[in-house]
Amino acid sequence: MSQTDTVEPSMAQHELAARPSVASRRSLEESVMYMVGLICAAVVGGFAVYRWYSGEYHGALINVGIVAAVAVPMLLGFSQRYRHVALYLFGCTISAGCLISALFVSNNGLLWALMVLLVNTLTLSRRWALGLNIIVIVTLSASAHLYLSPLHHVSWSTVALLICGFSLMSMDQLRAQRQLLATQANVDPLTGVGNRRMMHRHLQDIVADRRREHNRGTLMVLDIDHFKNINDSHGHDVGDQVLVDITRSIAGSLRAEDGFYRMGGEEFVILFPGMDTATARSELPALHDRLSGRVSTSDGPVSFSAGVATLQNGEDWSHWLARADRVLYNAKSEGRNQLRFSDG
Ligand code: GH3
Ligand code: MG
Ligand code: MG
Repeated sequence: MSQTDTVEPSMAQHELAARPSVASRRSLEESVMYMVGLICAAVVGGFAVYRWYSGEYHGALINVGIVAAVAVPMLLGFSQRYRHVALYLFGCTISAGCLISALFVSNNGLLWALMVLLVNTLTLSRRWALGLNIIVIVTLSASAHLYLSPLHHVSWSTVALLICGFSLMSMDQLRAQRQLLATQANVDPLTGVGNRRMMHRHLQDIVADRRREHNRGTLMVLDIDHFKNINDSHGHDVGDQVLVDITRSIAGSLRAEDGFYRMGGEEFVILFPGMDTATARSELPALHDRLSGRVSTSDGPVSFSAGVATLQNGEDWSHWLARADRVLYNAKSEGRNQLRFSDG
C-alpha cells in the first residue's frame, strides 16, 4: 500500500500544543514583559524622584505617568483572560513612552527607544512589532533636533534599523523552532492526531473545568479488533495505513472542540468536553455503529471496540480513564465490535 498521509490536528489540539506546559505557564513573551516592566518602573521611578527634587516638575510628572502606564499591562497580565491583551498594551505603552520621553523630556529617550524596538519584537506578533517599530523609528529619525550631530543622527537610525531587523529575524527562527518542538512533543507522527502526552493535558483541563465550573465531560477509549491479524496477514505497512484511515474516518465525524488522541499502538481516545451521561448514552452507540467497520482490508471490514465513561464528581483523570479502559475490556471479552458504558 502507498505511503501514509496524516490527519490535520483539530482546533482543540492546536490550542493545546501551542500552550506552554504546566511546568512553565509563563511564556517567554510574558517573562520579557515583566522583566522589562519592572526594570523600567524602578529606573524611570528613580528618575521621577531625582527630577522632582531637582525642580524639574514637568519631567518628573511625565516619568510618573510612564511608570503608571507600564504597571497597567503588568497587572492585566495576571488575569488568565487578558494575558494576550496585556502584551499588546505593554508594547503600545513602552513605544508611546519612549517617544514622549525622547520628544518632550530628554534625548536619553533615544537609548530607551533602542530597547523598545527589541522588546516589541520579543513580545509581539510580527505584524504588531513591525508596525510599532516603524512608528518609533520614523518618528525619532524625523526629529532632527534630538541629535548632537548629523553623524549621531545617521548612526542612531542605522542602529535602530539593524536592531529591528535582526531581532525580527531571530524571533521568526525561534517561533518556527518552538512550533516544531511543540508539534514533535505532542503529535503522533503516523496519524497526525495528538499523542498520549497531549491527551493527558486535555484530560487534566477537563477535570479542572469540572472542579471550577461543574462542566461535564465524557471519554471513549477505542481499540481496533484483531489488529495483530492485519499486520500478520498483510504486513506492517498495511497495518499503518489502516491506522491512518481509521483515524481519518473518526476525525471527520467529530466536533471542533472534541479531542482525538492516539494513546499508543492501535488504541485511541476521544474526549467529548461538556458531554453528560444521558447524551453519551443516546449519541455514542450510533457513532460507534457508524464508524466501526467503515475501513476495510481485503479480509473485510475492520471493527473496533469501545469503553465510555463520563467524569464524576471529585474524580481524577487517571481513575476516569481506567474506568473507560475496564469497560473496553468487557466489550472485548463479550465478543468485540461493541461499545460499553461504565456505570460508576
Ligand atoms: P484485540 O481485538 O484483543 O484488541 O486484538 P489485537 O490483535 O488488536 O490486539 P493486540 O494487543 O494483540 O495487538 C495489537 C497489535 O498492534 C500488536 C502490534 O504489533 C500492533 N501495532 C502497535 N502499534 C503499531 C503501529 O504503529 N503500526 C502497526 N502496523 N502495528 C502496530
Ligand atoms: Mg490494544
Ligand atoms: Mg486491538
